[in-house]
Amino acid sequence: MVSDSEAVSADSNSVDGDQADQPRRISILGATGSIGTSTLAVLDQHPGAFEVEAVTAFGNAESLARIAKHTRARIAVIADRRGHGSLVQALSGTGIEAASGEDAIIEAAGRPVDTVVAGIVGSAGLSPTLAAIRSGSNVALANKECLVCAGSVFVAEARVAGVTILPMDSEHNAVFQALGGNAIEDVDKIVLTASGGPFRDWTREAMASARPDDALKHPSWSMGPKITIDSATLMNKGLELIEAHHLFAVSGDKLDVVVHPQSIVHSMVSYRDGTTIAVLGEPDMRLPISHCLWWPDRGENMGLRLDLTKAGRLTFLKPDTNKFPALRLAREALEAGGWATNILNAANEVAVAAFLAGNVGFLEIARIAEDTIEVARSAGLDRSPSTVADALSLDRESRRIAKERVAGIDTRTTHH
Ligand code: NDP
Ligand code: MG
Repeated sequence: MVSDSEAVSADSNSVDGDQADQPRRISILGATGSIGTSTLAVLDQHPGAFEVEAVTAFGNAESLARIAKHTRARIAVIADRRGHGSLVQALSGTGIEAASGEDAIIEAAGRPVDTVVAGIVGSAGLSPTLAAIRSGSNVALANKECLVCAGSVFVAEARVAGVTILPMDSEHNAVFQALGGNAIEDVDKIVLTASGGPFRDWTREAMASARPDDALKHPSWSMGPKITIDSATLMNKGLELIEAHHLFAVSGDKLDVVVHPQSIVHSMVSYRDGTTIAVLGEPDMRLPISHCLWWPDRGENMGLRLDLTKAGRLTFLKPDTNKFPALRLAREALEAGGWATNILNAANEVAVAAFLAGNVGFLEIARIAEDTIEVARSAGLDRSPSTVADALSLDRESRRIAKERVAGIDTRTTHH
């Protein structure tokens, strides 16, 4: 028996209801990565609810072809042209289009859909994400480097295109939800939580000889290698401060970081009346991903239910910026402006790759970033980018400087 009130609400929703029955159209940039995989896990829970236009990867043609077939995507694109033949072969007879090269990624990202999942890692995601915004698609943004490299440009472009940037980063997704319909003027503080990473309880001396394997053991999240290293240096939280500044239009003094090892409180917003709204959940990326894909509605997320009686004790600590200078550095870059955050990001990408390759020590990562900003400033590169092309050119120049710093570091002196 359907009660009257249910019948009325079903009826009055009939226009929305029809739309709700239509599959939502999405594209997944970085489909083979950690964000991509979690996105696919959400889609798998809702057969028929989503239609996939494009899936992209860097060079992993086989996985991408498998994903394209599984999701029945219209087009699969890899950035690295060397994989073109394998992609075409793997997709032959399926009717799925195959393409390769950066331009093809940008073209695919620019196909209008409801939501583009921006899950490419690093500044390589800038042009595809911009194409998605310009085509009028909402962007579910995991690729925080877009905002760190060129935040003002992205926010302005999104406003012009009339699209919503939905934060997929778990902290920012929590803040987005905690802000609800409240006025940003009423916000006293936005507090981002940080797990503290694998070196939370290590000394600086121990961190000096930390190996990639040590840093890749994240205590609560399973993610791609670059962001996992960023979590170990706390650079990730620094990048997230910059990300929050752009997403929520707040200045650095309204942004705080608190270490919360259990990763249950995903972040919080404190208001001037003394109320704090926190968003809690299991540490599982399917939560923010699901929120973005279903927004402004909510979809069912099977198996993800928080039971606070089983979560145990929740603890909160102040971050130690002496031990983790990347956090201080990111704040300083935020104060200095868009040029400094762009350089910070580029130098960090270079330094993380060098650390993973065994060429520099763990503590060198933040030093390389700091030195690169200084060298770039003295070279007159302290002009904030006003287009994505400017941002990419500053990014290239900063990488060149950062690589020189890496080359100047003798690994034998860093690994005691
Ligand atoms: P991964 O390294 O796991 O995946 C990166 C994806 O991007 C892969 O699909 C990769 O393709 C593709 N890719 C890499 N380089 C390029 C390039 N030059 N051109 C085109 N595509 C490229 O990263 P994550 O999924 O961990 O992270 C993605 C982004 O999301 C990052 O910005 C990260 O900070 C952010 N994020 C991630 C979270 C997570 O839980 N993982 C949480 C919050 C934010 P291929 O497989 O072929 O190399
Ligand atoms: Mg995060």
